[in-house]
Amino acid sequence: MSSIFSKIIRKEIPADILHEDDVCLAFRDINPQAPVHFLVIPKKEISSLADLEKDDELVVGRCLLVASKVAAEEGLHNGYRLIANTLGDGGQEVPHLHFHIMGGRKLTWPPG
Ligand code: 5GP
Repeated sequence: MSSIFSKIIRKEIPADILHEDDVCLAFRDINPQAPVHFLVIPKKEISSLADLEKDDELVVGRCLLVASKVAAEEGLHNGYRLIANTLGDGGQEVPHLHFHIMGGRKLTWPPG
């Protein structure tokens, strides 16, 4: 399913991009919930974590490597949280797989 994130990938709407390669894109969340809050998304249109296929193994691996690299570049040396809200109960609003990376403050657990 196409979403607003496809428009960001195609540069049809602006985003504060932190990393881009052939497989994925990292950009700041427009509504940050922590001092550092960015998203890592695959360029491939995958709706959610629940829609992964076997061939997506390398795509997801690359997304996690990029999350780790950008988190370090953003100075999150004390730690951070990576979240993939998934489908309705998971609170997913944008139907394009994305990993939230949040840090820069002490995060509470559990989430609501
Ligand atoms: P979800 O609830 O689907 O896990 O999270 C979607 C996230 O995407 C939200 O944190 C929201 O702020 C962010 N978001 C939605 N639209 C845009 C946009 O157009 N640009 C950026 N940078 N972030 C967006």
